[in-house]
Amino acid sequence: MSENCLFCRIIKKEIPADVVYEDDEFIVFKDINPAAPIHLLLVPKHHVVSLQDIIPSDSEWLGRMMSLVPKIALENGCAPGPSGGFRLVANSGAHGGQEVGHLHFHIMGGPRPWSGRA
Ligand code: ADP
Repeated sequence: MSENCLFCRIIKKEIPADVVYEDDEFIVFKDINPAAPIHLLLVPKHHVVSLQDIIPSDSEWLGRMMSLVPKIALENGCAPGPSGGFRLVANSGAHGGQEVGHLHFHIMGGPRPWSGRA
């Protein structure tokens, strides 16, 4: 946990969020400023700043995080199959457009058009 990290504070329930999924390792909540009809943030509960900090020994939990993506997307309204689907975005660092320094996956979906600017 990182004391001044916004997402750590959401994980600790110090700041409210619209949580749609939670387990021991991950939390998923609705983006406060959605860029698509469905816009969720999938966040590991331990503090990792970005994909730039990932090393080979992270592959197990990162694999579990990745495998949650389609489950979370479909359970929260993204349509299945080629005519549905979703967008997955992970901004990393300033040049990647990352504003919150705690690793997160944006999961965006719903009928087009939408900007997906995340
Ligand atoms: P960007 O803002 O460019 O998408 P990030 O990739 O760091 O940068 O994404 C941070 C996301 O967190 C943004 O989409 C923003 O709307 C969202 N956000 C910020 N504060 C909250 C909050 N309190 N609850 C839910 N989502 C939040």
